[in-house]
Amino acid sequence: KDKNKYSGVVEDCCCDYETVNHLNEQVLHPSLQELVKTSFFRYFKVKLWCDCPFWPEDGMCRLRDCSVCECPESEFPESFKNPLRHGLSSDDLVCQEGKPQAAVDRTVDSKAFRGWTVTDNPWTSDDETDNADMTYVNLQLNPERYTGYIGPSARRIWDAVYSENCPKYPSEELCQEEKILYKLISGLHTSISVHIAADYLLDEATNTWGENLTLLYDRVLRYPDRVGNLYFTFLFVLRAVTKAADYLEQAEYETGNPIEDLKTQSIMKQLLYNPKLQAACPLPFDEAKLWKGQSGPELKQRIQGQFRNISALMDCVGCEKCRLWGKLQVLGLGTALNILFSVNGEEHLGQTLQLQRNEVIALMNLLNRLSESVTFVHEKETIMEGRISSP
Ligand code: FAD
Repeated sequence: KDKNKYSGVVEDCCCDYETVNHLNEQVLHPSLQELVKTSFFRYFKVKLWCDCPFWPEDGMCRLRDCSVCECPESEFPESFKNPLRHGLSSDDLVCQEGKPQAAVDRTVDSKAFRGWTVTDNPWTSDDETDNADMTYVNLQLNPERYTGYIGPSARRIWDAVYSENCPKYPSEELCQEEKILYKLISGLHTSISVHIAADYLLDEATNTWGENLTLLYDRVLRYPDRVGNLYFTFLFVLRAVTKAADYLEQAEYETGNPIEDLKTQSIMKQLLYNPKLQAACPLPFDEAKLWKGQSGPELKQRIQGQFRNISALMDCVGCEKCRLWGKLQVLGLGTALNILFSVNGEEHLGQTLQLQRNEVIALMNLLNRLSESVTFVHEKETIMEGRISSP
């Protein structure tokens, strides 16, 4: 048994596994957990009513009835209300969202949203400036966990993400930049699987929730590359956050509650300029190495298009809560990509970088999700290694 499976430098990054685990445990995880509970960071603006551009025939996406409605039922055409009565067989309509664990709780308290520009991000498919159909969702009430979304619909999304947009490496033709896109998606996929395993419906009859370590092993731990990609994605997003530190520090975290807003600002400062982080892992990922070749600009455009497709695919996720977290995390990744790759020259970062409120919320919530996954994987991996190696 290889005891040092996760030692040494995380592939394509600049820090080793031990340092990442230590920093996460000591600095990042505690601060991020506090941060995402603040009023500013717990409300995410999202269009949950999907306009899936890829499979218009998919019943799941046409059924508004499947999702929790944010406006009175009387406003919907009769045919939306009870699709099973309208000549479609129940096999066509596996209404995942009928399961309580898949539904989104839209309870929001009214908070002020001020001081942020609204611009469009070239890495994502949603037009962030378009307010139609957008709702605010309280993320604290909607944890990412098991929802019962399995089968062909879920498989089709992952297949499309991998095979159409970022073919699996190793493949001779795949350049460093494409490999990175693959690793980001795989790392996010690992993190989603970890959250399913960490918070699983163990017994439907008694509504008992808990950890499913078999699932964790089967989907994640037995694949070292998936674990490696999780760490990679964590470091990549961390680099984006620290690169944008000056911008994020000066941003307004106003919600109308000055005491809480000061707290938000202070947690952000703790995270962005933490001396332990700067000493142990000053450059979690080195983006300056990329897009160097002659075809750099074309390549960037191509990969940007691929990522936009992945972002659009999130509208086809047939379970509302999965769609919420899929959209948030892909927006978070798109924001990280925007910070690292769309700004023309580091020296101009302060002047040219413009983030929206929702992007910053997505970015920090994504970092928190990845940090939770790293914590869970490290904890369980250590326990399982101990069990396997003890007599
Ligand atoms: P899947 O996880 O569907 O994987 C499909 C295939 O992809 C695997 O067979 C394997 O070949 C490959 N693969 C798996 N993991 C990786 C990896 N890390 N890197 C590279 N390749 C990999 N379900 C929930 O219960 N809760 C959620 O919140 C949730 N969110 C989702 C969000 C999105 C965007 C999508 C597309 C699905 C989501 N799902 C969620 C469904 C969940 O991800 C699985 O698809 C489902 O649980 C079925 O799992 P599976 O074992 O068939 O493998």
